[in-house]
Amino acid sequence: MTGPPPHRPALATATAPGINSPAMADDKPLRPLPERPLPERPLPVADAITAGFWDGAREGELRIQRCRRCERWQHPPAIACRSCGGGDLGFAAIPGELTLYSWAVLQDAPAPGFRDRLPLILGVVEARAQQGILIAANLVGVKEADLRLGLRLAPSFEPVDDDTVLVQFTPVEDQ
Ligand SMILES: [Zn+2]
Repeated sequence: MTGPPPHRPALATATAPGINSPAMADDKPLRPLPERPLPERPLPVADAITAGFWDGAREGELRIQRCRRCERWQHPPAIACRSCGGGDLGFAAIPGELTLYSWAVLQDAPAPGFRDRLPLILGVVEARAQQGILIAANLVGVKEADLRLGLRLAPSFEPVDDDTVLVQFTPVEDQ
């Protein structure tokens, strides 16, 4: 039999840098990753785009990004309006009900600082002010057995250090 075997895929990446290059072929052991402890509880880091959300949290308000031109809300925040492309964006307290859209329950802590919070309930919360505004955050003050779609929620703010206040959600009491 002559020629290459049939159906052999072309190795398009064989000449890409770093792949099959001589440096990969020597017998040097890979450098081990530095031992780094898991953070106790990873915290969000605000940037220029998300600062309005975190400023609102520090002041005890759920502020969502809104386009000043077409008045559409959007979340997570972005550099431009996803509806009209405009760049004149601000943050405002979103009106209307917040309801439970989906959730997942974590039985294992993703970092040591979550061990005393298990089971950890990760919620996706819908802002009724505008269809499709979904906010992912932990749910607090609710048992797994009491979770149901449409559960009415209110934001709950947890200060964790001098600069950071977390936004979480908890059930509205009169329901
Ligand atoms: Zn817009």
